[in-house]
Amino acid sequence: MALKAVYLYAAVVALLLCSSANFIQSPSDVLGPVALLEPTPSAARDFGAMVSKAPVAVMRPGSAADIARLLGALSSAPPGTPAVAARGAGHSLHGQAQARGGIVVETRALPRAVEVVARRGDGDGGAYADVGAGALWVEVLEECLRAGLAPRSWTDYLHLTVGGTLSNGGISGQAFKHGPQISNVLELEVVTGTGEVVTCSPTRSPELFFAVLGGLGQFGIITRARIPLQAAPPKVRWVRAFYDSFETFTRDQELLVSMPELVDYVEGFMVLNEHSLRSSSVAFPAEVNFAPDFGSDGGGGGGGGKKKVYYCVEFAVHDFQRQDSAADHVVELVSGKLSFLRPHAYSVEVAYFDFLNRVRMEEESLRSRGLWDVPHPWLNVFVPRHGAAGFKDLLMDTVIARGDFEGPVLIYPLLTDRWDGNTSAVVPAAPDGVAYVFSVLRSTDPSRCGGACVDAILEEHRRVADEACRRLGAKQYLARQPSRAHWRDHFGAGWDRFVARKARFDPMHVLGPGQGIFPRAT
Ligand code: FAD
Repeated sequence: MALKAVYLYAAVVALLLCSSANFIQSPSDVLGPVALLEPTPSAARDFGAMVSKAPVAVMRPGSAADIARLLGALSSAPPGTPAVAARGAGHSLHGQAQARGGIVVETRALPRAVEVVARRGDGDGGAYADVGAGALWVEVLEECLRAGLAPRSWTDYLHLTVGGTLSNGGISGQAFKHGPQISNVLELEVVTGTGEVVTCSPTRSPELFFAVLGGLGQFGIITRARIPLQAAPPKVRWVRAFYDSFETFTRDQELLVSMPELVDYVEGFMVLNEHSLRSSSVAFPAEVNFAPDFGSDGGGGGGGGKKKVYYCVEFAVHDFQRQDSAADHVVELVSGKLSFLRPHAYSVEVAYFDFLNRVRMEEESLRSRGLWDVPHPWLNVFVPRHGAAGFKDLLMDTVIARGDFEGPVLIYPLLTDRWDGNTSAVVPAAPDGVAYVFSVLRSTDPSRCGGACVDAILEEHRRVADEACRRLGAKQYLARQPSRAHWRDHFGAGWDRFVARKARFDPMHVLGPGQGIFPRAT
């Protein structure tokens, strides 16, 4: 058996005891019958593959009560005792779900049952799912679809846990319509940093509810979530249309997000070269006859003129197949309003599940090329509308100008009023209510880009992010800030509230060491 089930009470308790002789009578008084396991390699690893911090132990909780015993014990222990990181699917980029010398709580071990409650005669208005926080969104989708229902707001990739995305934000092409995933939660069960198990909602313990949403794992470990559901369409019409002008591309995206009654999903991406055109088509099952001229300067900079860049708008319309070709008519109507490079719009009908699970196909393609379990220096930035063109130029002159750049660059608009300002998540101040997501999703091939090369990319991302934040009022998403001063800048006016929430729900700084915001007292 890969995991040797060893009780590591001794290690943890020794740490506790060395700080206070009176603290513990016996290990089982403190942690009950829950095993702390020897750390596994995965507890010190994440998708980013750039940070590795080994914990002293791993916990696989069977219930919220198990976590409560652990956090209760550690929060009342004197300084110097281990910190605790919740780990969902471990798809963080910079060690955020890791705990050097601490304890990793693997939330995938929590009960993952998905209970769908649909009130009859109520349309889908009152339907919801109660889900374990360690469930993957793909598991939630599969279970909800059995009842013809589905959550409203998604991430592009579904093999992420409910607790993991709710601790960040959770965005995809539905966010313009329904808000991020953290705007689509009815109730949570949370174990606070002091070991209290609390059921919270916008009206019941609202301060904790809003603190943990987008709270980067700082205030509690989410153990269960109640997610509102809507009727799931059997199929979607999925459209891609191509552009050679950033201005026209973003204008059409903004037109699309102004039509939520017709359109269900809006994203977009840069088409930098033949490779990005090919790789973006992995999951899109239409024949695309777009063969643009990218120009002869392969470097995008150093070799004379600039290379030509194209853009692709992506939108989707749910197809309930209630009326013959109603979705087709909507696609036709909407496409007629857009200013893409005619005739380059391509539409295809796919099953709803396959549409939502599309990145799984890209994962398989990357895995087959040995580019999944490699370092991923990603850069995710929310940029206010007025700064979007400037940020695109900044990326073109820096990150993308490198000859070895490979990976998708997603660009799509968010409507900031769909984000509840009570949550801990950070979005930029956008005077006209529109901010653009820029996601530079890079995989590095270790045979061509080793440690120093990855460090240079990260350094460049840091400079670009700092400049975008300073000059354009942008905010980073999913990033681990390098210092407390950076965190303070990141939260801006929300910093004092974030600090006050920490003092209230995790005063001993037990939780979330991997984010590097609040060091555990030593
Ligand atoms: P982990 O990496 O395990 O944890 C992330 C953070 O949340 C850590 O700080 C951890 O301590 C904390 N945490 C985890 N579980 C809990 C819990 N139950 N309670 C409290 N804190 C907890 N994001 C988007 O918004 N949209 C996307 O389209 C998107 N696509 C992605 C595609 C890929 C291939 C990858 C790798 C990531 C993507 N992400 C996307 C980012 C993703 O949402 C976050 O990295 C998310 O945190 C991953 O969930 P996880 O379960 O792997 O969390």
